[in-house]
Amino acid sequence: MTRIPCIAGNWKMYKTVDEAVETAAKLKEALHNVSGRDIGIAPPFVSLVPVAEVIKGSNISLIAQNVFWEDEGAYTGEISPTMLKNAGCTCAIIGHSERRQYFGETNETVNKKINKCLDAGLMAIVCIGESLEERESGNTFSVLETQVSEGFSALSPDQMEKIVIAYEPVWAIGTGKTATASQAQEAHAFIRSKIEGHYGKAIADEIRILYGGSVKPGNVDELMAEKDVDGALVGGASLDAGSFARIVQFSS
Ligand code: PEP
Repeated sequence: MTRIPCIAGNWKMYKTVDEAVETAAKLKEALHNVSGRDIGIAPPFVSLVPVAEVIKGSNISLIAQNVFWEDEGAYTGEISPTMLKNAGCTCAIIGHSERRQYFGETNETVNKKINKCLDAGLMAIVCIGESLEERESGNTFSVLETQVSEGFSALSPDQMEKIVIAYEPVWAIGTGKTATASQAQEAHAFIRSKIEGHYGKAIADEIRILYGGSVKPGNVDELMAEKDVDGALVGGASLDAGSFARIVQFSS
């Protein structure tokens, strides 16, 4: 079993269109020789089309930060999977903790979004993770278990093959506080065991589980050395092309 490492940059609500295009051009140049790694960037919606133009033909793929669960309709402000695919995206982030925290995203909406995304031919990076309170009260594993069983409810093995999981402990996102490599490994192994319980060993062995939460050039090598850490979802440190390029080129 080989899981190709995947490094994805989530630019959140940062960068104007001009800045996004400039950073994408720098990354295209810096990473053109890198192989054996799946690389993706998730600019804000307004920059998707111009960034798609810049990275066309490169080894960088385009990711959406969010997606809605209908194809079209009277849903002011929302964007459908079909529209994202047409704009050049190959994948969408679903259930990011900031969406759960500020925009009412739940395991149920995550499940609807996954279904629609996969139907439209987009892959999904599905984020799960516990809050500080949940960790400190000893509930990390039960929270992860619920997020897996409800978020992935009734998905088929074929659908699971198009999913990447991102374990992002909420207390480590944007805080500078990274989970230690062994905390990440422990959570990833647990998540993989739950996937095995629901979908069997073959799928559990194949599914990629990324770590997210203050990943930087200085800690990526240690995290990536863990056996169940298959990549990283990077926020703050992906905004600078040099720092993201270094993270992508983690030493294995
Ligand atoms: C994220 O946005 O998914 C994230 C992990 O952010 P940061 O790297 O800034 O903690």
